[in-house]
Amino acid sequence: MFGIEKPMPNPTEDTEKYWEATRKGELLIMACGDCGHRYMPPMPICPVCWSESVKWTKASGRGKVYSFIVVHRPQHPAFFPDAPYNVAMIDLEEGPRIHSRIVTEPGQMIDPTLIKVDMPVEVVFEKIDSETTLPMFRPTT
Ligand SMILES: [Zn+2]
Repeated sequence: MFGIEKPMPNPTEDTEKYWEATRKGELLIMACGDCGHRYMPPMPICPVCWSESVKWTKASGRGKVYSFIVVHRPQHPAFFPDAPYNVAMIDLEEGPRIHSRIVTEPGQMIDPTLIKVDMPVEVVFEKIDSETTLPMFRPTT
């Protein structure tokens, strides 16, 4: 596995601000200026009312686990050393559902038997390198 790197986010015009914010420890979501809908992934048009009056807004970072899986046999060789690891869907309190990972602290795997559906979580940020900081979630009480 030596020398195989994990695929990293590749910021586009639509996602550049999101990744810029994660580097500063902020989680952004899209907000519609006309109907108020909050959504992810980012799109230049509101998926509910088709308004073009949309912008990034800061999320609280709080949410709940909607669902999760535990990966025992990764498809990508760069993830072999991480297995078993989880991939979770988080329902943010503002509404959007995003994919992430449940950790105890940034960079610290959680025992997958501790993850429960509906478990309250909050965002933490794991700095991968100077370009990439990934939002992860840890349990709250
Ligand atoms: Zn809208």
